Amino acid sequence: MDPEDLRRYGHQIVDWIADYLKNSRQYPVLSQITPGSIRLALPAKPPEQPEPMEQILADFEQTLMPGLTHWNVPGFMAYFAITSSGPGILGEMLSSALNVNAMLWRTSPAATELEQVALDWLRQMLGLPKPLFGVINDTASTGVLYALAAAREAIPDLAIRQKGMAGRPELPRLRCYTSEQAHSSVEKAIITLGIGQEGLRKIPTDSEFRMDVAALERAIEEDLAAGWRPFAVVPTIGTTSTTSIDPVPAVADICERYGLWLHVDASYAGSAAVNPDLHWILAGCERADSLIVNPHKWLFVPIDCSVLYTRKPDVVKAAFSLIPEYLRNAESQGDEVPNLMDYGNALGRRFRSLKLWMVLRYFGQEGLAARIREHLRLAQLVVKWVKETPGFELLAPTPFSTVCFRVHPQGLDDEAKLDALNERVMNRVNEAGHFFLSHTKLHDKYTIRIAIGNLHTNEQDIRALWAELQNYAQSELKVITS
Ligand code: PLP
Repeated sequence: MDPEDLRRYGHQIVDWIADYLKNSRQYPVLSQITPGSIRLALPAKPPEQPEPMEQILADFEQTLMPGLTHWNVPGFMAYFAITSSGPGILGEMLSSALNVNAMLWRTSPAATELEQVALDWLRQMLGLPKPLFGVINDTASTGVLYALAAAREAIPDLAIRQKGMAGRPELPRLRCYTSEQAHSSVEKAIITLGIGQEGLRKIPTDSEFRMDVAALERAIEEDLAAGWRPFAVVPTIGTTSTTSIDPVPAVADICERYGLWLHVDASYAGSAAVNPDLHWILAGCERADSLIVNPHKWLFVPIDCSVLYTRKPDVVKAAFSLIPEYLRNAESQGDEVPNLMDYGNALGRRFRSLKLWMVLRYFGQEGLAARIREHLRLAQLVVKWVKETPGFELLAPTPFSTVCFRVHPQGLDDEAKLDALNERVMNRVNEAGHFFLSHTKLHDKYTIRIAIGNLHTNEQDIRALWAELQNYAQSELKVITS
């Protein structure tokens, strides 16, 4: 593309983006199309001849836009709400224009060094002590895989990197521990590492969905007696369903007592600690071997940007570093600068630190903390309404900005009917298009979640959602009981 054409279309696209964000409340949040319809609307054969950009952009708008679920809008409150903020969008644009690959320090020194600086800034904002080495991965799922590979590498005398795990009857069966409320990415990592699903023991949680530490210790003792080799524990700060906070300091005591790797999953809630009043949520993380915080979840950085911190970068490197001749370089001999390819499976590395750095500077710690405080306030408003309104029931504590509740009309105690009622209410909200909510199950009860996390969600949005929920609760109750 000619640079002048790029300028023209670039301006057009930036205008489009600004209008999209300005008018974002006009789109149905959850895409309303039927499965397969986008594929049918697109040509099955690839273009033989160049096509005009005008046509490509028109197809984007007319064909693709209706098939998008709008994550970057205030009404998105499903799963965990995220935001691609202005500085983050601009950072992404620059990063794709530069297209650097920070696999080695020399393949883009500024990208490697900015990553170290931005992650050290973030460490300071979160109130975590030095030394803490950080790298940015695409997702927490990748990060936990790397962390548990390092945990496995840290077990003395097993030589798994060299000899693998298969066909070795002398190897003890490895076991990792996490809570029943942990994210599925922990289990996926264990599967991928060849440890096997039985190698993950899920520890029960207490009435507030936090890991039961006494049960953890009992499980470790039992497993040791039965010949297992415990090697890691993964507590969560901000679990996926209810955002509960596992007691990391007590888990750290156990890890130290039994010589286990402590990996903390703070993917969602860790960002909240940019608010100094919330530094306490990361208590115990100073003793973690590794820790994940996802700025792409609650720090207004466009997906993808997941930070893996570790106090033991040498162990991560021992698990992953492999330098073929064609990548050998003077810097790989010393410790002066890292070659980021050494800290994971991926060779190629996007310049993700640019958007993070731009977001951290644009908002500053105060600006980020203020936005997070507002989300917490809005969540407490919803909690208050749920508690005050007959026919609604809170199903979990709300330590952050995700509210778990259900519709529970007086006199209706049939659990199957309550599940059906809540599913119908949530579907009605999602079909109406102003909001998108998702659900979980807590103690086997269908639970609606309101996850507040988009930068632009305001009190008016929350009030409008609450009005919709009350309406649909009434109309669907009639259907269920008729
Ligand atoms: N950990 C927790 C607690 C999560 O809630 C999630 C996703 O929501 C993940 C890990 C996985 O995150 P990612 O999508 O970055 O792999």
